[in-house]
Amino acid sequence: MPDAPEPGPRREPPSLLQPPGDEAFMRAALAEAINAYEKDEVPVGCVIARGGRIIGRGHNLRETLKDPTAHAEMLALTAASEAVGEWRLEDCSLYVTLEPCPMCAGAIVNARVKRVVFGAADPKAGACGSLFNLVQDSRLNHRAELRAGVLAEEAAELLRAFFREKRSGKPLP
Ligand SMILES: [Zn+2]
Repeated sequence: MPDAPEPGPRREPPSLLQPPGDEAFMRAALAEAINAYEKDEVPVGCVIARGGRIIGRGHNLRETLKDPTAHAEMLALTAASEAVGEWRLEDCSLYVTLEPCPMCAGAIVNARVKRVVFGAADPKAGACGSLFNLVQDSRLNHRAELRAGVLAEEAAELLRAFFREKRSGKPLP
């Protein structure tokens, strides 16, 4: 493939400061969000990567499991911990399509996740910069690196489509 520039306004400029692969992992998180959507769950998806490899995945299953803790991040953290046989995820990066809530941000701190990358901001419940920044609070015993806004528009559009359909009462396409 020739490395020709793609047309279109939404292409981010390359930056030496950004580790490679964030968008690829966020695409995997978006695929998880679509899994949630197809189960009539609020479409949020998460993957956890270590050494360039995905070791845990999750999507929101709150309705399916009738469990208020069944957020994408919680399920992905549990899956990743099972995969590595360790509750500490110190060398892991977590990718989630929507800014983590206080519960998930707390779990991220407890798991010692190294890096958090999220897509859309959540002004109503976000705990990685919107309402609080729990993952970078110096009073807690762990802080994570944080990157916001990766494929944010795709993640937000999926959520908008979901709630649009809920309001209209139409079946999913
Ligand atoms: Zn959450």
